Amino acid sequence: MSGRTSRASAISTPGVLTPQALGDVLQLLRRDPELPLWAGGTWWMDRGEHRSRLVALHGVSELKRVVRSDIRVDVGAAIPIARLREVGSHFLPEPLVAAMDRMGPPPVRNLATIGGAICVPEGTLPIAVVLQLLEAKVELRRFGHSRWVPISKIDLAPGELLTRVRIPLRTRTNWMLHQFGFAYPITSSSLTVVATASVEKDNLEEFHAAFLIDGIHLIRLREAESEIVGRSLPLTERDLRTVLGALENEPLYGKHLDNLGRWRASSTLRQFLRTL
Ligand SMILES: Cc1cc2nc3c(=O)[nH]c(=O)nc-3n(C[C@H](O)[C@H](O)[C@H](O)COP(=O)(O)OP(=O)(O)OC[C@H]3O[C@@H](n4cnc5c(N)ncnc54)[C@H](O)[C@@H]3O)c2cc1C
Repeated sequence: MSGRTSRASAISTPGVLTPQALGDVLQLLRRDPELPLWAGGTWWMDRGEHRSRLVALHGVSELKRVVRSDIRVDVGAAIPIARLREVGSHFLPEPLVAAMDRMGPPPVRNLATIGGAICVPEGTLPIAVVLQLLEAKVELRRFGHSRWVPISKIDLAPGELLTRVRIPLRTRTNWMLHQFGFAYPITSSSLTVVATASVEKDNLEEFHAAFLIDGIHLIRLREAESEIVGRSLPLTERDLRTVLGALENEPLYGKHLDNLGRWRASSTLRQFLRTL
Protein backbone atom coordinates (compact mmCIF):
# COMPACT_ATOMS: atom_id res chain seq x y z
CA MET A 1 0.00 0.00 0.00
CA SER A 2 1.27 3.47 -0.71
CA GLY A 3 0.12 6.85 0.48
CA ARG A 4 1.24 10.14 1.90
CA THR A 5 1.43 10.72 5.61
CA SER A 6 0.03 14.01 6.87
CA ARG A 7 2.70 16.68 7.19
CA ALA A 8 3.22 17.68 10.81
CA SER A 9 1.86 14.51 12.30
CA ALA A 10 3.95 11.99 10.35
CA ILE A 11 5.33 9.78 13.10
CA SER A 12 7.48 6.82 12.20
CA THR A 13 8.75 6.09 15.71
CA PRO A 14 6.57 6.76 18.74
CA GLY A 15 7.34 10.20 20.12
CA VAL A 16 9.48 11.23 17.14
CA LEU A 17 7.70 14.00 15.29
CA THR A 18 8.82 14.26 11.69
CA PRO A 19 7.39 17.45 10.20
CA GLN A 20 7.96 17.98 6.48
CA ALA A 21 7.59 21.77 6.41
CA LEU A 22 9.20 24.57 8.39
CA GLY A 23 5.78 26.01 9.25
CA ASP A 24 4.89 22.73 10.92
CA VAL A 25 8.08 22.77 13.01
CA LEU A 26 7.26 26.31 14.15
CA GLN A 27 3.71 25.25 15.05
CA LEU A 28 4.96 22.29 17.07
CA LEU A 29 7.41 24.53 18.93
CA ARG A 30 4.72 27.11 19.54
CA ARG A 31 2.61 24.49 21.27
CA ASP A 32 5.53 23.01 23.18
CA PRO A 33 8.61 25.34 23.23
CA GLU A 34 10.64 22.78 25.18
CA LEU A 35 10.45 20.08 22.50
CA PRO A 36 14.00 18.91 21.80
CA LEU A 37 15.24 19.31 18.22
CA TRP A 38 16.99 16.41 16.54
CA ALA A 39 18.97 17.49 13.47
CA GLY A 40 21.78 15.02 12.65
CA GLY A 41 21.42 13.51 16.11
CA THR A 42 25.18 12.94 16.58
CA TRP A 43 25.29 15.03 19.74
CA TRP A 44 22.10 13.41 21.03
CA MET A 45 23.40 9.91 20.33
CA ASP A 46 26.43 10.66 22.43
CA ARG A 47 24.19 11.65 25.37
CA GLY A 48 22.43 8.29 25.49
CA GLU A 49 19.42 10.08 27.03
CA HIS A 50 15.92 8.83 26.45
CA ARG A 51 13.50 11.50 25.24
CA SER A 52 9.82 10.68 25.16
CA ARG A 53 9.18 13.30 22.44
CA LEU A 54 11.38 15.14 19.99
CA VAL A 55 11.19 16.89 16.64
CA ALA A 56 13.34 15.45 13.86
CA LEU A 57 14.35 18.04 11.25
CA HIS A 58 15.62 15.74 8.51
CA GLY A 59 12.36 15.80 6.51
CA VAL A 60 12.16 19.58 6.26
CA SER A 61 13.49 20.42 2.78
CA GLU A 62 13.38 24.19 3.47
CA LEU A 63 16.06 23.61 6.09
CA LYS A 64 18.34 21.88 3.60
CA ARG A 65 18.52 24.51 0.88
CA VAL A 66 21.68 26.22 -0.29
CA VAL A 67 20.94 29.53 -2.02
CA ARG A 68 23.89 31.41 -3.42
CA SER A 69 24.44 34.86 -4.87
CA ASP A 70 27.68 36.58 -5.90
CA ILE A 71 28.27 37.95 -2.45
CA ARG A 72 26.84 35.40 -0.04
CA VAL A 73 25.36 31.97 0.47
CA ASP A 74 22.40 31.06 2.67
CA VAL A 75 22.71 27.55 4.01
CA GLY A 76 19.79 25.67 5.55
CA ALA A 77 20.44 24.66 9.15
CA ALA A 78 19.64 20.98 8.62
CA ILE A 79 21.99 20.35 5.72
CA PRO A 80 24.51 17.68 6.70
CA ILE A 81 28.14 18.77 6.79
CA ALA A 82 29.23 16.19 4.19
CA ARG A 83 26.51 17.35 1.79
CA LEU A 84 27.41 21.00 2.27
CA ARG A 85 31.05 20.13 1.64
CA GLU A 86 30.03 18.41 -1.58
CA VAL A 87 27.86 21.19 -2.98
CA GLY A 88 29.96 24.07 -1.68
CA SER A 89 33.55 22.96 -2.20
CA HIS A 90 34.00 25.34 -5.17
CA PHE A 91 32.56 28.47 -3.65
CA LEU A 92 32.59 28.22 0.16
CA PRO A 93 35.43 30.07 1.90
CA GLU A 94 38.45 27.79 2.25
CA PRO A 95 38.71 28.00 6.06
CA LEU A 96 35.13 26.75 6.30
CA VAL A 97 35.82 23.81 4.02
CA ALA A 98 38.88 22.98 6.14
CA ALA A 99 36.80 23.18 9.34
CA MET A 100 34.18 20.85 7.86
CA ASP A 101 36.85 18.34 6.88
CA ARG A 102 37.98 18.17 10.51
CA MET A 103 34.56 17.57 12.03
CA GLY A 104 35.09 13.99 13.11
CA PRO A 105 35.04 10.83 11.00
CA PRO A 106 32.96 10.57 7.77
CA PRO A 107 29.98 8.80 9.42
CA VAL A 108 29.66 11.77 11.79
CA ARG A 109 30.01 14.31 8.97
CA ASN A 110 27.36 12.47 6.96
CA LEU A 111 24.83 13.02 9.75
CA ALA A 112 25.93 16.13 11.64
CA THR A 113 24.30 19.33 10.40
CA ILE A 114 25.65 22.87 10.31
CA GLY A 115 22.80 24.04 12.56
CA GLY A 116 23.44 21.27 15.08
CA ALA A 117 27.16 22.09 15.11
CA ILE A 118 26.40 25.72 15.91
CA CYS A 119 23.80 24.84 18.56
CA VAL A 120 25.60 22.22 20.66
CA PRO A 121 24.69 23.57 24.06
CA GLU A 122 27.73 22.96 26.24
CA GLY A 123 30.27 25.02 24.32
CA THR A 124 31.60 25.93 20.91
CA LEU A 125 32.93 23.77 18.09
CA PRO A 126 35.77 25.05 15.85
CA ILE A 127 33.42 25.43 12.86
CA ALA A 128 31.43 28.05 14.79
CA VAL A 129 34.62 30.04 15.42
CA VAL A 130 35.53 29.90 11.73
CA LEU A 131 32.01 31.08 10.84
CA GLN A 132 32.42 33.91 13.30
CA LEU A 133 35.63 35.09 11.63
CA LEU A 134 33.89 34.86 8.26
CA GLU A 135 31.24 37.20 9.69
CA ALA A 136 28.42 34.72 9.21
CA LYS A 137 24.96 35.46 10.57
CA VAL A 138 22.18 33.11 11.52
CA GLU A 139 18.46 33.36 11.12
CA LEU A 140 16.54 32.42 14.26
CA ARG A 141 12.82 31.76 13.92
CA ARG A 142 9.89 31.06 16.11
CA PHE A 143 6.22 31.14 15.22
CA GLY A 144 5.41 34.54 13.69
CA HIS A 145 8.88 35.97 14.32
CA SER A 146 12.29 35.88 12.70
CA ARG A 147 15.59 37.69 13.31
CA TRP A 148 19.16 37.65 12.03
CA VAL A 149 21.99 37.73 14.56
CA PRO A 150 25.78 37.46 14.33
CA ILE A 151 26.94 33.96 15.08
CA SER A 152 28.64 35.13 18.28
CA LYS A 153 25.33 36.42 19.64
CA ILE A 154 23.06 33.40 19.43
CA ASP A 155 20.64 33.29 22.34
CA LEU A 156 17.93 30.83 21.38
CA ALA A 157 14.67 31.57 23.16
CA PRO A 158 12.31 28.69 24.01
CA GLY A 159 10.45 27.64 20.88
CA GLU A 160 13.04 29.21 18.60
CA LEU A 161 15.18 27.38 16.08
CA LEU A 162 18.10 28.21 13.85
CA THR A 163 16.90 28.08 10.26
CA ARG A 164 19.65 29.50 8.02
CA VAL A 165 23.31 30.44 8.13
CA ARG A 166 24.30 33.40 5.94
CA ILE A 167 27.95 33.29 4.91
CA PRO A 168 29.58 36.21 3.05
CA LEU A 169 31.60 34.96 0.07
CA ARG A 170 34.50 37.41 0.26
CA THR A 171 37.83 35.81 -0.55
CA ARG A 172 40.50 35.82 2.13
CA THR A 173 43.97 35.70 0.65
CA ASN A 174 45.47 34.16 3.79
CA TRP A 175 44.06 31.95 6.51
CA MET A 176 45.04 29.29 9.02
CA LEU A 177 43.20 26.77 11.15
CA HIS A 178 45.12 24.81 13.75
CA GLN A 179 43.57 22.37 16.16
CA PHE A 180 45.50 20.98 19.11
CA GLY A 181 43.90 18.19 21.12
CA PHE A 182 40.36 16.95 20.50
CA ALA A 183 37.65 19.50 19.76
CA TYR A 184 35.06 16.91 20.79
CA PRO A 185 33.88 16.02 23.39
CA ILE A 186 33.85 19.71 24.19
CA THR A 187 35.08 19.09 27.72
CA SER A 188 38.43 17.78 26.37
CA SER A 189 41.53 19.86 26.71
CA SER A 190 41.97 21.54 23.33
CA LEU A 191 43.06 24.68 21.54
CA THR A 192 41.83 25.94 18.17
CA VAL A 193 43.63 28.83 16.52
CA VAL A 194 41.98 30.52 13.54
CA ALA A 195 43.08 33.56 11.57
CA THR A 196 42.03 35.13 8.29
CA ALA A 197 43.46 38.04 6.36
CA SER A 198 43.06 39.85 3.07
CA VAL A 199 46.08 41.33 1.42
CA GLU A 200 45.92 43.71 -1.50
CA LYS A 201 48.95 45.28 -3.14
CA ASP A 202 51.20 44.83 -0.10
CA ASN A 203 48.57 46.30 2.14
CA LEU A 204 46.74 44.52 4.96
CA GLU A 205 43.06 45.10 4.16
CA GLU A 206 41.54 42.80 6.75
CA PHE A 207 42.72 40.64 9.63
CA HIS A 208 40.88 38.56 12.22
CA ALA A 209 42.09 36.02 14.76
CA ALA A 210 40.40 33.84 17.36
CA PHE A 211 41.50 31.29 19.93
CA LEU A 212 39.10 28.72 21.35
CA ILE A 213 40.33 27.12 24.56
CA ASP A 214 38.79 23.82 25.77
CA GLY A 215 35.68 24.54 23.65
CA ILE A 216 34.42 27.20 26.06
CA HIS A 217 36.81 30.15 26.32
CA LEU A 218 37.02 32.34 23.25
CA ILE A 219 39.67 35.01 22.76
CA ARG A 220 39.20 37.71 20.13
CA LEU A 221 41.70 40.54 19.58
CA ARG A 222 39.41 43.11 18.00
CA GLU A 223 41.36 46.23 19.02
CA ALA A 224 44.69 44.87 17.89
CA GLU A 225 43.09 43.63 14.67
CA SER A 226 41.85 47.08 13.75
CA GLU A 227 45.15 48.63 14.81
CA ILE A 228 47.18 46.74 12.24
CA VAL A 229 44.66 46.83 9.40
CA GLY A 230 45.90 49.27 6.75
CA ARG A 231 49.59 48.59 7.51
CA SER A 232 51.90 47.92 4.61
CA LEU A 233 53.44 44.50 4.32
CA PRO A 234 55.51 42.77 5.44
CA LEU A 235 54.49 43.68 8.99
CA THR A 236 57.19 45.13 11.18
CA GLU A 237 58.32 43.56 14.43
CA ARG A 238 56.42 46.37 16.16
CA ASP A 239 53.18 45.40 14.38
CA LEU A 240 53.70 41.80 15.46
CA ARG A 241 54.19 42.96 19.05
CA THR A 242 50.90 44.90 18.88
CA VAL A 243 48.99 41.71 18.13
CA LEU A 244 51.02 39.25 20.19
CA GLY A 245 51.08 41.64 23.13
CA ALA A 246 47.28 41.88 22.99
CA LEU A 247 47.07 38.10 23.05
CA GLU A 248 49.47 37.77 25.97
CA ASN A 249 47.59 40.42 27.96
CA GLU A 250 44.30 38.64 27.49
CA PRO A 251 43.30 37.19 30.91
CA LEU A 252 41.92 33.95 29.39
CA TYR A 253 45.33 33.31 27.81
CA GLY A 254 47.08 33.39 31.16
CA LYS A 255 44.35 31.60 33.05
CA HIS A 256 43.27 28.72 30.82
CA LEU A 257 46.37 27.81 28.83
CA ASP A 258 49.41 26.01 30.19
CA ASN A 259 52.93 26.82 28.95
CA LEU A 260 52.61 24.55 25.93
CA GLY A 261 49.21 26.01 25.03
CA ARG A 262 50.51 29.55 25.34
CA TRP A 263 53.47 28.73 23.15
CA ARG A 264 51.20 27.11 20.55
CA ALA A 265 48.83 30.07 20.50
CA SER A 266 51.57 32.71 20.21
CA SER A 267 53.83 30.88 17.79
CA THR A 268 51.07 29.94 15.32
CA LEU A 269 49.84 33.52 15.31
CA ARG A 270 53.35 34.92 14.90
CA GLN A 271 54.01 32.55 12.04
CA PHE A 272 50.76 33.57 10.34
CA LEU A 273 51.51 37.27 10.66
CA ARG A 274 54.99 36.72 9.26
CA THR A 275 53.64 35.04 6.14
CA LEU A 276 51.52 38.08 5.22
C1 LIG B 1 32.05 10.25 17.38
C2 LIG B 1 31.97 11.74 17.24
C3 LIG B 1 33.11 12.45 16.87
C4 LIG B 1 33.05 13.84 16.73
N1 LIG B 1 34.18 14.51 16.38
C5 LIG B 1 34.14 15.85 16.20
C6 LIG B 1 35.28 16.58 15.79
O1 LIG B 1 36.37 16.03 15.59
N2 LIG B 1 35.18 17.93 15.63
C7 LIG B 1 34.00 18.58 15.83
O2 LIG B 1 33.94 19.78 15.65
N3 LIG B 1 32.90 17.91 16.24
C8 LIG B 1 32.95 16.57 16.43
N4 LIG B 1 31.83 15.90 16.84
C9 LIG B 1 30.64 16.67 17.22
C10 LIG B 1 29.70 16.86 16.06
O3 LIG B 1 30.25 17.83 15.20
C11 LIG B 1 28.35 17.38 16.65
O4 LIG B 1 27.78 16.32 17.39
C12 LIG B 1 27.43 17.79 15.52
O5 LIG B 1 27.94 18.89 14.82
C13 LIG B 1 26.05 18.17 16.04
O6 LIG B 1 25.21 18.32 14.92
P1 LIG B 1 23.91 17.43 14.77
O7 LIG B 1 23.21 17.87 13.55
O8 LIG B 1 24.21 15.97 14.88
O9 LIG B 1 23.11 17.95 16.05
P2 LIG B 1 22.06 17.22 16.99
O10 LIG B 1 22.72 16.10 17.74
O11 LIG B 1 20.83 16.88 16.24
O12 LIG B 1 21.73 18.43 17.97
C14 LIG B 1 22.74 19.07 18.72
C15 LIG B 1 22.12 20.19 19.55
O13 LIG B 1 21.73 21.26 18.69
C16 LIG B 1 20.33 21.52 18.78
N5 LIG B 1 19.90 21.82 17.42
C17 LIG B 1 20.12 21.09 16.31
N6 LIG B 1 19.65 21.73 15.23
C18 LIG B 1 19.11 22.89 15.67
C19 LIG B 1 18.48 23.99 15.02
N7 LIG B 1 18.30 24.03 13.71
N8 LIG B 1 18.05 25.02 15.78
C20 LIG B 1 18.22 24.99 17.13
N9 LIG B 1 18.82 24.00 17.79
C21 LIG B 1 19.25 22.95 17.08
C22 LIG B 1 19.74 20.24 19.34
O14 LIG B 1 18.53 20.49 20.01
C23 LIG B 1 20.85 19.79 20.28
O15 LIG B 1 20.81 20.53 21.49
C24 LIG B 1 31.83 14.52 16.97
C25 LIG B 1 30.69 13.81 17.33
C26 LIG B 1 30.73 12.44 17.46
C27 LIG B 1 29.49 11.67 17.85
